[in-house]
Amino acid sequence: MLTIGTHMSIAKGLAKTAENVVKMEANTMQIFSRNPRGSNFKIYTEEEIGRFQEIRKNHQFGSLLAHAPYTMNLASDQEKVYEFACTVIREDVARMDALGIENMVFHPGSHTGIGVERGIRNIIAGLDQAITGDEKITVLLETMTGKGTEIGARFEHLKAIRDGVKHPERIGICLDTCHVFAAGYDIIHDLDGVLEEFDRVLGLDLLKAIHLNDSMMPFESHKDRHATIGAGEIGWEALLGVLKHPALKELPFYLETPLDDAGHKEEIAMIKARLDTI
Ligand code: FE
Ligand code: FE
Ligand code: ZN
Repeated sequence: MLTIGTHMSIAKGLAKTAENVVKMEANTMQIFSRNPRGSNFKIYTEEEIGRFQEIRKNHQFGSLLAHAPYTMNLASDQEKVYEFACTVIREDVARMDALGIENMVFHPGSHTGIGVERGIRNIIAGLDQAITGDEKITVLLETMTGKGTEIGARFEHLKAIRDGVKHPERIGICLDTCHVFAAGYDIIHDLDGVLEEFDRVLGLDLLKAIHLNDSMMPFESHKDRHATIGAGEIGWEALLGVLKHPALKELPFYLETPLDDAGHKEEIAMIKARLDTI
């Protein structure tokens, strides 16, 4: 069965958001682990959490995904920036794990001039102070476009991070279709080849989630601009190919396309309709 949902705002609380997922005819969601542009987070009441768990169970949601804030840079060499990132990842891994959220994804970070290797060393140390090894949650590294000094545009970067940490068994990968395409992995003409390379470098068993986005920017542009499905440079055909690929079709898919809830409901319906007709 297809597991699909979108990125959801949790401004109205966890339970209300889960209700909206049901209304959208989706069966999973991605939420921010805290305010994406600041550092605040809400503390939920037991009752709120209880209602959220009930909805999710009754409607048989697939794996849920939390997304760490964009403002954290675990690759940074600047003390304040790095300490903030370490605090956020440590607190949010624990908080999202306590909620029973299956996966939490973060952008590995930008090295801002110190080089990929030193950036990766910082990310590894940051993960090591956040992950105890006793969690149930899996922390996912997202594939990135490589804009600026961003780390994670090559599968090899993600492999080096995972191999360096004390608890690699708690680390997985989230593949973003817009990002890999903009990074130069040709998922239009050679999805099989891209997945073979992923398997060779990382292992397909590490792939836990797909961010399903079209790209406003061309192949290998190293620019990160999401488009709605079919309205970008990747197109319907290639993205349907991702959804129905035997190695991917059991994974949870999360849309991060520029639409509101009503638009996402339509987008999901359209995806289901097109999948059924192939
Ligand atoms: Fe992301
Ligand atoms: Fe993404
Ligand atoms: Zn993006």
